[in-house]
Amino acid sequence: MTASDCIFCKVFDKKISAKIEYEDEEILAFYDINPQAPVHLLMIPKKHIEKMSEMDAKDTPLFGRLIYKAGQIAAQKNWTDYRLIFNNGVEAGQSVFHIHLHLLSGRKMHWPPG
Ligand code: AMP
Ligand code: ZN
Repeated sequence: MTASDCIFCKVFDKKISAKIEYEDEEILAFYDINPQAPVHLLMIPKKHIEKMSEMDAKDTPLFGRLIYKAGQIAAQKNWTDYRLIFNNGVEAGQSVFHIHLHLLSGRKMHWPPG
């Protein structure tokens, strides 16, 4: 499912260029255009789901794979310490309404987040 006005759907349709780290039939991993850490990868399902709160129970295996694949990429790259984040909604910092998992690594992280 592709939304014609969605920038992340355009990324996997190759209408917007991105530095792609991993791709399969369901998932795309690419580097954030405005990185917040030395490593900043975005993991998206190709299925257009706006945000975490709109995820359906039948999408559970897809999201399991997405998270597992984030860990696999990190292991392959030797990124030992990292943070995985879903921002859900504007107040939580979401600006692109195609669900994405941030993988941040390469610097000391702070808690609580801002
Ligand atoms: P969020 O604020 O959680 O919705 O995250 C959206 C992220 O997408 C931000 O970190 C942006 O820098 C990033 N972003 C926006 N447009 C692009 C793009 N064309 N390619 C790569 N990353 C992008
Ligand atoms: Zn989309």
